[in-house]
Amino acid sequence: MFKIDVITIFPQLFDNILEYGVLKESKAKQLCEFNTHNLRDFTKDRHKKVDDRPYGGGPGMVMSVQPIDDAISFIKAENLRRNINNCKTILLSPQGQKLDQKMLRYFASLENIILICGRYEGVDERVRDMFVDMEVSVGDYVLTGGEIPAMVIIDGVIRLIAGVVGKEQSLTNESFEQDLLDFPQYTRPETYKELAVPEVLLSGNHGMIKDWREKKSFENTKIKRPDLLNKKTCKKDE
Ligand code: SAM
Repeated sequence: MFKIDVITIFPQLFDNILEYGVLKESKAKQLCEFNTHNLRDFTKDRHKKVDDRPYGGGPGMVMSVQPIDDAISFIKAENLRRNINNCKTILLSPQGQKLDQKMLRYFASLENIILICGRYEGVDERVRDMFVDMEVSVGDYVLTGGEIPAMVIIDGVIRLIAGVVGKEQSLTNESFEQDLLDFPQYTRPETYKELAVPEVLLSGNHGMIKDWREKKSFENTKIKRPDLLNKKTCKKDE
């Protein structure tokens, strides 16, 4: 079973994340275990503080290393007890490597991911130095906390776990899987406000449908994300 542990000061933000759709199924089928850890439960500060002022001055607060250290130790001790070895500790950070489908596939190949959600001005640098295997960003913009980025990873990774999404093919055909975007999709009615579904999709000719989809996938990518095609060409040349 794939195990996800989230370290956060707002565990209640995650209360409903596995209660809908595919993620709910992953829980029901016992393919995924999801735990949140309230950072305040791990602080040795008697006022339950998990942050402090930055050395050198400046605005805002910095998340302290001690509670994060203890939360990670708690999770890793549990992993040891249950013989869960293939684990990575991920810090959500705008300074990290940008999340993509390949990275999600890598996470899905592990047994456990530990997601550290920063707040305020971020975490004490020693968290990075001592515990973090990967620093991951969801894009070049700054959010108030790592919880929403963590949810992005959780959603993206769970659907890649074997058995979660019914037809494996619906994953391999998707956008980004082969550095191509998905082809256009249609469902009933055949005509809506004079706009008809492309005839080939109604033909029942699987070969023609496959060719059309490949062509459209390529065209879609060329128009919307030409950078992906460059990536594809570079890979071929390597
Ligand atoms: N001072 C930090 C900096 O400039 O790098 C930004 C801190 S941000 C206000 C607080 C927390 O939100 C970060 O520690 C991180 O966990 C999370 N966060 C913000 N933007 C993010 C992004 N684009 N990707 C991932 N995490 C992000």
